[in-house]
Amino acid sequence: MRNALLRCKSCGANYDARTPTFRCECGEPLDLVWDGGEGAAEKRTDRAIFFPFEEGEWVSLGEGNTPLVSVKDFADELGLADVQVKNESANPTWSFKDRGTAACVAHARALGFSRIGTVSTGNMAASVAAYGAAAGMEAVILVKGDTDEEKMAPVAIYGPTLLRVEGAYDKLYKESIRLGAELGIYFMNSDVPFRVAGSRTIAFEIAEQRGFSVPDWVVVPTSAGGNLRGIINGFEDLLSAGLTDRMPRFLCAQAQGCSPIVAAFDAGEERIKPFESPHTIAHAIENPFPPSGNRVLAELRRYGGVALGAKEKEIVKAQKHMARQGFFGQPASCVPLACLRNAREEGLVAEGSTAVLIMTGSGLKYTAAFQAHKLKWKDCKLKELAEKMR
Ligand SMILES: [Zn+2]
Repeated sequence: MRNALLRCKSCGANYDARTPTFRCECGEPLDLVWDGGEGAAEKRTDRAIFFPFEEGEWVSLGEGNTPLVSVKDFADELGLADVQVKNESANPTWSFKDRGTAACVAHARALGFSRIGTVSTGNMAASVAAYGAAAGMEAVILVKGDTDEEKMAPVAIYGPTLLRVEGAYDKLYKESIRLGAELGIYFMNSDVPFRVAGSRTIAFEIAEQRGFSVPDWVVVPTSAGGNLRGIINGFEDLLSAGLTDRMPRFLCAQAQGCSPIVAAFDAGEERIKPFESPHTIAHAIENPFPPSGNRVLAELRRYGGVALGAKEKEIVKAQKHMARQGFFGQPASCVPLACLRNAREEGLVAEGSTAVLIMTGSGLKYTAAFQAHKLKWKDCKLKELAEKMR
């Protein structure tokens, strides 16, 4: 691993990236500082240029390089020049998490760890378990005591050490960090620096796939805030590498049923407060107190972004409309379409703009959402088939 720095954008402190440092002493998250490397002139966004790792430190399952697809129906409906879907369900474990997991595994290997871990019940648990298996590292996955079998089994299949833990979730999270340090387990939880650094590749690919023309808006479903921070950092790195000529604006998309960042943004606050009684079908982004929330607020304001919420029925409608265009995303990953619609209605996004929606994960990750749709099919006998198909 090359020499690199982790920087706190909030207080300015720097840390050596060749140490297991996961958060600034001030309490805010850390960002990998791109050192300006080589290759910019060749219009390349290879990981060798933007990450401090040696090629042998990476373990890849083929993450990234996901499709970016223009959807004319959405552009026409919204009066926009182009609406594109970045389909992250095409990743190895069907969500964007694989990008951050791959970067964290490279970091863990570079630092000599043999065990990795995470606290999660959803996309991240499956991702860390899969990469642990691929890297030949033991993966310790901690999940909440009330997690049901339907969610345990798709993680267990990768063969991790899977522990279902009774007790308060916030305490479990803190315990994981304490025990990780004590027992030498690299916990790649929500917004650790290299998970965020991995998310930068979403920005790199969007730029590349658009011929290095930056969209006006990038719409990101936001939970902990790490993915949005990573995408912002990625566009910053592209700009400082001279590969692009401007920054896009960012729409932080949340479900109204759990929208602590939207609440603080609307109130003009600099710090988020815990969201009371969160509940939403967009389960994957139901985080009542996002650890990167303060940082996201600052970045949104810096680049003229906005934070908006979507109602439950708007999310279900967006999921249906995405599917009717061929994209089956989990409810959380359909929140961007719902929020972009609201942003157009409120006049926050100008007519004729271009927008990219980040579809973070597959609809098959949350089949409970089928109940929200009145899905129909017909039964018939073989001899009636010709008549029914006519
Ligand atoms: Zn700091």
